[in-house]
Amino acid sequence: MKHLRKTLTFNTDSRRAFINITRDVEEAVKKSGVENGMVLVNAMHISASVFINDNESGLHEDFETFLEKVAPEKPHDQYMHNRGTMEDNADAHIKRQIMGREVVVAITDGALDFGPWEQIFYGEFDGKRSKRVLIKVIGE
Ligand code: ZN
Repeated sequence: MKHLRKTLTFNTDSRRAFINITRDVEEAVKKSGVENGMVLVNAMHISASVFINDNESGLHEDFETFLEKVAPEKPHDQYMHNRGTMEDNADAHIKRQIMGREVVVAITDGALDFGPWEQIFYGEFDGKRSKRVLIKVIGE
């Protein structure tokens, strides 16, 4: 069995961001030499997500609006997680829980076996610091 492990590092300028990482995943699959198998892509932090959806900026604004309605960042002290601690990121933990930790994509004939319009995104909910995504390719 062939396998490859790779990490991507992000340090966003803003607290929240969505970043298309499809090309990075495709490069890892190509480098692995795997023709048929699976690739796992997961956020290595509990305030960030990896998810699959459409590469459309309006939709990404809709995600931001929806997530801020469900778990608004402020006021910070509305959350037990933030009270009496140095933490201010309870909203980020909840947003990550909604958007998910990881995706798994089938590899067929050396390519990501996507449905129409599927792209892979990194969702940052507590940025401005260094954070990682793990890519693990397995197959033959
Ligand atoms: Zn926290």
